[in-house]
Amino acid sequence: MTSDRIDVLDSGYIRLVDSMPKEPGAGDLSIVRAARVSYDAAWRAGEDAGSDARLIHYLWRHKHSTPFESVEFQFEVMLPIFVARQWMRHRTWTYNELSGRYRELPELFYVPRPEHIGTQSEDNKQGRVFCEHGYVEACAVGIMRDAFEEAFKTYHELLEHGVPRELARTVLPLSTYTHFFAKVDLRNLFGFLDLRNDQHAQYEIRQYAEAMLDLVRPIAPVAVAAWEDGRKGNG
Ligand SMILES: Cc1cc2nc3c(=O)[nH]c(=O)nc-3n(C[C@H](O)[C@H](O)[C@H](O)COP(=O)(O)OP(=O)(O)OC[C@H]3O[C@@H](n4cnc5c(N)ncnc54)[C@H](O)[C@@H]3O)c2cc1C
Repeated sequence: MTSDRIDVLDSGYIRLVDSMPKEPGAGDLSIVRAARVSYDAAWRAGEDAGSDARLIHYLWRHKHSTPFESVEFQFEVMLPIFVARQWMRHRTWTYNELSGRYRELPELFYVPRPEHIGTQSEDNKQGRVFCEHGYVEACAVGIMRDAFEEAFKTYHELLEHGVPRELARTVLPLSTYTHFFAKVDLRNLFGFLDLRNDQHAQYEIRQYAEAMLDLVRPIAPVAVAAWEDGRKGNG
């Protein structure tokens, strides 16, 4: 891991490629500058830590959300296709993704660790229950890996027979890793984290959401604290 890249799952990662602003803490200043135009405040280059923090908490608490859109982030993400499908439901992001029509897809697929398999939840139709892992989970890992390897073997056979990449890829599993760039502003990032850094979100996308929070916190620490306070009901 470098300071701007965090490894996630078995072969994935998330990297903060760029942000506006870039400097640690400067995102908080962008937010209060945007908010204070309401009363035509004079330009201020430096911070006033006390009043800025109070204002940011006030803004978030009272859903005055547009100042939080003045801070933007671009991420590079390596992730399984099933996680990307959940992520891309978030329409407020801008995406550019690896094309399986353009190039052969690398043989890279996600295999969960036995302790992250669990069993199907009885009361949450979408979820799983984590439990002590044992023989069943260890077997499941092997069965999944065999299926993924077999799918990639078929993919390579089809390519060797001249089948076009855009069709050959259709035999690949949802666990196949894809790669995208994604841009979002802080307000909509908080919206994403509300849903995906939450106990109802699937374990795998939560790992990316938690890593993302660690990457953005240094840019706008007070805003992140205000969002966290809001979630705890202290906002
Ligand atoms: C635990 C969980 C389970 C889910 N299960 C399913 C499922 O079974 N099937 C399924 O299809 N999806 C499912 N989803 C996806 C979910 O329905 C949303 O599509 C996804 O979470 C994106 O949320 P969003 O629309 O708030 O995000 P964004 O698209 O980023 O939008 C952010 C906000 O912008 C506003 N907005 C954006 N576009 C519009 C618009 N066109 N009209 C009005 N307001 C808009 C809304 O206020 C919205 O909340 C699930 C999500 C979660 C977290």
